[in-house]
Amino acid sequence: MSRFFSSRYASLTPYTPGEQPKDMQYVKLNTNESPFPPSPGVSRAVAEQCGKLQLYSDPESTVLRVKLAEVYGVKPEQVIVTNGSDEVLNFAFMAFAENLIFPDITYGFYPVFAQLNNIPYEEIPLEEDFSIDPKDYVNQNKTIVIANPNAPTGLCLNLSDIEQIVASNSDNVVIIDEAYVDFGGESAVALVDKYDNLLVTMTFSKSRSMAGARLGFGIGSKALIADLNTIRYSTNPYNVNRMTEFAGAAALSENDYYMANCHTIMENRTWTTEQLQKLGFKVLPSKANFVFAKSPRISGEGLYLELKKRGILVRHFTKERIKDYNRITIGTKEQMEILISAITEILKEQAL
Ligand code: PMP
Repeated sequence: MSRFFSSRYASLTPYTPGEQPKDMQYVKLNTNESPFPPSPGVSRAVAEQCGKLQLYSDPESTVLRVKLAEVYGVKPEQVIVTNGSDEVLNFAFMAFAENLIFPDITYGFYPVFAQLNNIPYEEIPLEEDFSIDPKDYVNQNKTIVIANPNAPTGLCLNLSDIEQIVASNSDNVVIIDEAYVDFGGESAVALVDKYDNLLVTMTFSKSRSMAGARLGFGIGSKALIADLNTIRYSTNPYNVNRMTEFAGAAALSENDYYMANCHTIMENRTWTTEQLQKLGFKVLPSKANFVFAKSPRISGEGLYLELKKRGILVRHFTKERIKDYNRITIGTKEQMEILISAITEILKEQAL
């Protein structure tokens, strides 16, 4: 820390992104990216916008918001687009949170954004089986953020539980982070016209193969979105660059391709879960593009390190409650076969 760093941030612990080592070509199963490339229209849209980079992007991202509104059955005024969904989450914390609650095991950026914005927060322990008990969030009178499906567990709440939480906290915003919803979850977007305190956030980083483009969005009431725009126009009105805006719009025109890919990922998830179970792993039932799994025969860190040696990256967290587990992104069938062979070999070596 330099002597110039503001004392406001002296105790801030920044988020740690998944590693991207460059020493060899890894099978990358550590950051929940899609293994499939973007659809052909995306490359064409990016190429076209490249020739116009001397011009600022549209601060309203109108083309993209209109498309998103169409796909999600809402009005364009109910949509904000951002530089990844991390940005809409940060904006929402800035705009709406006085006191925050979220689960103890969830997306690691929530406490960071809370600290960054000086928002007091409380972490509510997940149940023993890592599920969220919706009762813990009913009538809380605080801003709530829940990832649904949750990360890194992959577990889901159903829509009636979400509705109960939203309805019972009508004086506070409830943020439902649906980064992984396209892999089998139920979206709360269906409830945004009924509850003016519900904000749903989503991303193009997972189901739509555009993590590198940085594109996220939020859907809520017109008034919530207007507040988020006040924050956005006070931070960076050109938060979504023109290549990304048009890449996103092109992806939505080819939505069937992405939804078919999600289907493949879900099939590969079932296969991977079965294979891991055959190898003795405990695997949480996931509705996301990853599984959270632990072996009784090797520590979480041990498996992570052995896989890395063999060119396979998975995500290991050191937090006490989950340190025996690894979060494994679901990739192509070939990638999952490589993973399972490597784990089989590692476990055999352990037994020697
Ligand atoms: N929410 C959750 C639960 C996530 O796991 C992630 C990805 N790390 C994000 C939001 C943010 O993703 P992005 O900024 O790429 O949209």
